[in-house]
Amino acid sequence: MIKEKSDLLQIIEDQAKAIKRLSQDASDLEIALMTAIEHGDSIEEQLLLVNDSLEREANERRKAENRLQNLISALTQQKDDLEVLVETITSHGDDLQYEWLERLGVAEEEALTDGLTQVSNRRHFDHYLASEWSRALRHHSKFSIIMIDIDYFKLFNDEYGHQIGDDCIKRIAEQGKKISVRSTDLFARYGGEEFAIVLPDTDYDGAMKIASDLRLAVKQLDIPHNKSKISDTVSVSIGVASCTVITGAEESCLLQQADNMLYKAKEKGRNQVVGFNNETENKSNCRGPAE
Ligand code: GH3
Ligand code: MG
Ligand code: MG
Repeated sequence: MIKEKSDLLQIIEDQAKAIKRLSQDASDLEIALMTAIEHGDSIEEQLLLVNDSLEREANERRKAENRLQNLISALTQQKDDLEVLVETITSHGDDLQYEWLERLGVAEEEALTDGLTQVSNRRHFDHYLASEWSRALRHHSKFSIIMIDIDYFKLFNDEYGHQIGDDCIKRIAEQGKKISVRSTDLFARYGGEEFAIVLPDTDYDGAMKIASDLRLAVKQLDIPHNKSKISDTVSVSIGVASCTVITGAEESCLLQQADNMLYKAKEKGRNQVVGFNNETENKSNCRGPAE
């Protein structure tokens, strides 16, 4: 019985220990639970923070993307504008260049053309003669010059007036142009009522033919000239000079010879052609044939 009592005491003691252990476990569990709850809050908090920051970053990225998109379209627009501008400048540049070239061409043409007759003027004649003479020198080719002067033109003006005189000069120029057919021939108004023709690669016979044709063509215009002392219509006197262009020869010399022949034609009675051929004449100088 006593043993039973001590057994019971023992059991009670064991139970008390077990209860103590259990309450210790419960307390540990409570601590663990509290800790878990506390940690759980902090993880959630951290997750929320991360989430926030991710959202902010995503927003920033979206904004940056929008800005980039705007920038790209602004640049595209600028590029298009620039292309239009460049095209405009280019086409205007072409227009300007074309306009200037055209103006230059017109100015050059005007500078070389006689205003009344629209044939080459004296300046063109001089330049052309010099350049063709240089070319002829290189090839030792034939060369001719023709000088033409209207007969008694002062009297014509006095009789019919300056305006009719101008018309007469124009009509004779037209004939001169028609007769100088080769592309290398240059018919020019040399002075008031004087004309001249540069004939590269043309020998004496060829030049004399052109001169005779022109004299005839002027006669055939049949322009009345009551005051002329040699004809009742307008006529011209013509001087011709031809040579082979050799080293040392000068174009001014050939020109002088043609002028001298014109003077001779006047002397001999006008309305005629007188020529000088350096090829056949043994005395060749700027004065033409021996006096
Ligand atoms: P010649 O037969 O000797 O050549 O006699 P000419 O009267 O033709 O010669 P002159 O040199 O004495 O006179 C030339 C005249 O040409 C004088 C001038 O009034 C006239 N003349 C010159 N240029 C022009 C022009 O542009 N228009 C007109 N209408 N007459 C002009
Ligand atoms: Mg004259
Ligand atoms: Mg004259």
